[in-house]
Amino acid sequence: MQIAKSITWLKKTIPENVGIVAVSKTKPASAIMQAYQAGQRIFGENRVQEVVLKQSQLASDIDWHFIGHLQTNKVRHIAPFISLIHGIDSMKLLSEVNREALKNNRIIDCLLQFYIATEETKFGLDITEAKAILESESYQQLKNIRITGVMGMSSFSDDLILVRREFRTLHDYFVTLKAQYFSQCSSFGHISMGMSGDYLIAIEEGSTLVRLGTIIFGDR
Ligand SMILES: *Cc1c(COP(=O)(O)O)cnc(C)c1O
Repeated sequence: MQIAKSITWLKKTIPENVGIVAVSKTKPASAIMQAYQAGQRIFGENRVQEVVLKQSQLASDIDWHFIGHLQTNKVRHIAPFISLIHGIDSMKLLSEVNREALKNNRIIDCLLQFYIATEETKFGLDITEAKAILESESYQQLKNIRITGVMGMSSFSDDLILVRREFRTLHDYFVTLKAQYFSQCSSFGHISMGMSGDYLIAIEEGSTLVRLGTIIFGDR
């Protein structure tokens, strides 16, 4: 019941233009069903095996988002159904997603993941690397992926000024890329940032997609 209540409350308090990804990693199908019955349709997972299993067991109108670090050799498992990949951090990965999307006769939406935190453990591109990808010959050839925005994770920190600055940096990257490469693409519109501890700041800084786990499903 608590899960349904959290979903209802979040839907009521989060602005309509901000999507909610319910991060269900490590949580059982029964927990996902409770959120589903409260109207939630977007779920985020960070392990390939887990999302494949859950997708096969649960309702077919769920949008599954992959939010973790994706290895190229595992792309083929999620390519048939995944609706958004948040963590594109190399040309190699993007090419592989394109290849598997083609095999499945799909176009797969992707977000470029940026490194905005101060922690070495996090993944992501810097703006120079992102521009190099978008300007490359090989990127122009990719017809089965569509880049629909950017994603980032802030530092795991109580320093809210730091966290806000990192979100602002991601927003700036989005604006730069939009102006330089995607001004004609209305589909380039997503800024995926904000988790349970910092989503309110992320929304203030322009998030369009918050990824919420703990606040919906409780501790992992
Ligand atoms: C686990 C995870 C989340 C959700 O984190 P919570 O703090 O539980 O809301 C969001 N984004 C990514 C990339 C994650 O791995």
